[in-house]
Amino acid sequence: MAARDLAGYRVVAVHAHPDDEAITTGGTLANLAARGADVLVVTCTLGEEGEVIGETYQHLVNDEADQLGGFRIAELKASLAALGVRGQFLGGAGRFRDSGMAGSAASDDPRAFVNSGKLAVDLLAEIFAAERPHIVITYGPDGGYGHPDHIRAHEITHTAAKIVDVPRILWTVRLAAETAALLPAEAPEGWRLPDDGELDGVERSDVSMRLDEHAYSAKVAAMRAHATQLWIADGRITETNPHAVLADGPVVYYALSNLIMQPIQRVEHYQLGAGTPPADAGAGLFGGLER
Ligand SMILES: [Zn+2]
Repeated sequence: MAARDLAGYRVVAVHAHPDDEAITTGGTLANLAARGADVLVVTCTLGEEGEVIGETYQHLVNDEADQLGGFRIAELKASLAALGVRGQFLGGAGRFRDSGMAGSAASDDPRAFVNSGKLAVDLLAEIFAAERPHIVITYGPDGGYGHPDHIRAHEITHTAAKIVDVPRILWTVRLAAETAALLPAEAPEGWRLPDDGELDGVERSDVSMRLDEHAYSAKVAAMRAHATQLWIADGRITETNPHAVLADGPVVYYALSNLIMQPIQRVEHYQLGAGTPPADAGAGLFGGLER
């Protein structure tokens, strides 16, 4: 375990759905928490519009039982425990509903997160005022990959951070070249490799975190906790998904319900979204900020 060299620093990560905290920022959050930083994950929706991997909980989906959101609260709790961080739903669990993919009818629901207006900004500003984070982590203006709830999370984060004066906002990104280099020549049976440009990816980042073994295994464990959403190619079955896939390579691999193979990267990258830049790339996420 790393020394508690970050005690006194505070971080808030603003995410759209349960599982985003693990996929995009899990290793960073686990590392910062293990080193003594106070880490809070704010999740804006329950991810009610998601698909379900595996037969066990298949009928929870929105057009059948519509119970997926409640189920994903438990998955999120297990993920946050694996990362060693605190969690809170924006406005309380179920306050805002998953808006679905772009163009989805779910976005017409008045409770959809895309229709959350000033209320969501005020609720987030209240959290920022209470937590006084040195760093807030969220997505870039395109939401990372264009999901309307991710774009909305970006918008409310930037607006609320201006009200409360957050010193630094970081956007989670993946480097396209790094993702491509980690993909093997073939996908396991039943899965497929991404087409060119199909996965999110950028050319450059401003600050990065290379995950130590603790942070990397915490990230994989947190992703495994979201078993209705993420299939980890580690050769194991779960209660949720009784089918095993094993993929060989320099990292652990996973897929969403679209079964497109993706690497679980050992480096997490960020672009500076607002505020003071890190002193230099080697100084870490808090570089240049007084605790
Ligand atoms: Zn999401």
